[in-house]
Amino acid sequence: MVDELIWACSADSHFLEPEDLWSERLPADLAARMPRSVRNEEKGIETVFVDGKSFERTLPSLGQREFAEETMRPPGARDARLRLKDLDGEGIWAELVFPSLGMWFNSLWNRDLVTAAVQANNDWAREAIEGVSGRFVVAYQLPMLSVVDAVTELERIVADGARAILLPVEPPVAQANYTSEVWEPLWDCAEAAGVVMGMHIGTESITFEDEIGVQFRGPGGAIRNYVESSFGAQRAITGLVAGGVLDRHPALRILVAEGGASWVPFLGDRMNEAYRQHGPRVRPKLSISPKEQLYRQVYASFQHDESAVDAAESMGYRNVLWGSDYPHQEGTFGHSQATLHELFDGRPSELRRRVTVDAFLELFPDVEPMTVAP
Ligand code: MN
Repeated sequence: MVDELIWACSADSHFLEPEDLWSERLPADLAARMPRSVRNEEKGIETVFVDGKSFERTLPSLGQREFAEETMRPPGARDARLRLKDLDGEGIWAELVFPSLGMWFNSLWNRDLVTAAVQANNDWAREAIEGVSGRFVVAYQLPMLSVVDAVTELERIVADGARAILLPVEPPVAQANYTSEVWEPLWDCAEAAGVVMGMHIGTESITFEDEIGVQFRGPGGAIRNYVESSFGAQRAITGLVAGGVLDRHPALRILVAEGGASWVPFLGDRMNEAYRQHGPRVRPKLSISPKEQLYRQVYASFQHDESAVDAAESMGYRNVLWGSDYPHQEGTFGHSQATLHELFDGRPSELRRRVTVDAFLELFPDVEPMTVAP
């Protein structure tokens, strides 16, 4: 018997930027400073150059790499028309599309450079991705070295129809923390525009001193480093709740992409306990509990986690979204249907629909209407 196709939306996908994006759209002197990756297959190292600085990261091992090359670079990763075929094959209707190389924009430390880069990236993404199909929602970028620049660009792209932005888990090095009032104009603008803040894990600022993503070596290192990548967003969300940002902006919505979901009820419990038991020392005071704020305004996407579905089913946390992470190694490309069946077979159909489709449509109600049954 052929399994029924489960149609889902993906709240976490990525596009690989074309290699000529910067040379086509930026003056040569700026294009030369943009992020680029050079792979040394023999040493198993990838060097990423960003504005005259660089860092190295380990490529997957050879066996993994053969697997990864096949699955990580499908033609649809760089071509929105071919991508629609991959989506149809995987049973994915609509996608929130994050960048790939653009994930390093937080490490451009020159205000003019990052502003030009972000504008070029955003204009390209609108044409090349959203321009191809109403099934794509682009996570646009902002120049975060200055809140004035960030708001100016947000207003510009909102006027062109932007519905989501990529918000790094922390501001660039030397910028004030998100709990600082410095950032109020950005939250004001995003809340008023109804733009979803897509906080993708792993977008910490880079110091260029260490190999990226490698904090632990030795036994357990690979798993410890992967787990570690979840914590930045959890710290950021804790700050936004405890610091009163979400309370002051009750319509502001943040989607934490690729970080799992069952941490949200956990954080809610911890923050509620602190708010109650440490009451005299807590400031600012909040109008509703931390956990209620999380459940109202924070959305979270996962790929494989069984506990994410449990959070939606039995912990009362309804803002759980599935994501394919196409075309990345952590993602489900090639086995999306198997994963969706493992997650949802035997679960209530209302729950499945909430996590695979309805929570996504709550954030992005104007994607192209589904012509397939969810
Ligand atoms: Mn992702």
